[in-house]
Amino acid sequence: MKINLEALLQQVDQRQVELIDLVERLIRFQTPAPPARNTEEAQQFVAAFLQDKGFVIDKWDVYPGDPNVVGVLKGSASDTYKSLIINGHMDVAEVSPDEAWETTPFTPIVRDGAIIGRGAADMKAGLAGALFATQLLHEAGIRLPGDLTFQSVIGEEIGEAGTLECCKRGYSADFAVVVDTSDLHIQGQGGVITGWITVKSKQTFHDATRRSMIHAGGKLFGASAIEKMVKLIQGLQDLERHWSVIKSYPDCPPGASTINPAVIEGGRHAAFIADECRLWITVHFYPNETHEQVAKEIEEHIRLVAAGDVWLRDNPPEFTWGGSSMIEDRGEIFPSLEVDPQHAAVRALIGAHERILNSQPIVDVSPTVTDGGWFGDAGIPAAIYGPGDLGNAHSVNEQVSIQQVVDFTKVMLQFIYEWGHTKK
Ligand SMILES: [Zn+2]
Repeated sequence: MKINLEALLQQVDQRQVELIDLVERLIRFQTPAPPARNTEEAQQFVAAFLQDKGFVIDKWDVYPGDPNVVGVLKGSASDTYKSLIINGHMDVAEVSPDEAWETTPFTPIVRDGAIIGRGAADMKAGLAGALFATQLLHEAGIRLPGDLTFQSVIGEEIGEAGTLECCKRGYSADFAVVVDTSDLHIQGQGGVITGWITVKSKQTFHDATRRSMIHAGGKLFGASAIEKMVKLIQGLQDLERHWSVIKSYPDCPPGASTINPAVIEGGRHAAFIADECRLWITVHFYPNETHEQVAKEIEEHIRLVAAGDVWLRDNPPEFTWGGSSMIEDRGEIFPSLEVDPQHAAVRALIGAHERILNSQPIVDVSPTVTDGGWFGDAGIPAAIYGPGDLGNAHSVNEQVSIQQVVDFTKVMLQFIYEWGHTKK
């Protein structure tokens, strides 16, 4: 079997053209999110690809026009050998009309050892490399003892957790690799949660009442929700600064726990005192924190700030946390993920990388967020490992190095084979 594997690794080099074709094939499916609802054809392609390699396919609409695809390749000795999930998202970052691409974003080209096109780095090269690895195993007639599950999900770019839906549907394994953009680092991640803070007056006052509301002797107990929100924003800044002083995590830059006042909406018309104000915040937290925990910290702090204000004490702010889509309900959650470098699967992945690239992989923390957090949230040990760098993700003339895609495919081939042959 070992000799078989060596020959397979060589095939990745020999069949590079096929691998590049597969990356280009995936890029040609126009799957930007937003607007989303456009992955049906691409997901059908993946489903057919996996089915052809012996996977049993489960395909279901998470949203109309945006199905998840999960392929399961049952192992020959599932009960005694380790199982693996390979996960990637089919949606890509949006392309705005004013972006000055040298090429058409969805018509990929190869130039100077790189594939250029939307999604090249984030993350169709990752999906293609992992798919190609499963193809080579299949063609060589290798049947893994352990189960192999391939998840091609939707919605990652707009906080629609296709991966969460897979977890909810009961898909699990001894380990999961999210083959998203990591420049072949093995990564965990901090998390993100969005939230809305709302300040609302019980009554609506005409603009002409402002004099009585704010000056001596006016006797009108009321306030502008916009002006009161300013106090809460200052409270958020205080807490953010406190976090940056107190909190830290290895491989994360100091101050990476942030509270961004991203969007503010409020008031109804110039003829009225603003009776409502809503603030949309984005909170980043460390890999060892949970979204529930940071949301609670913010709520507790802001409630105390409000308690120190005579009007807010009577009109306390309300909080709405997270959401299931940035375009449907204007909210999202990306849980955090900690990677245990001593976990057997992580060590196997490190070993495979060392063997193929002749260098030690960097194990660190992604400066961004991926679906990896949903595995952490579901209690499935996981890591992010994929080709492409974040400088290229979401960028104009997005590209990925072909050499890196080849290396990645070989590492995955080796890793899938080894982990699938590891006893529970
Ligand atoms: Zn991504």
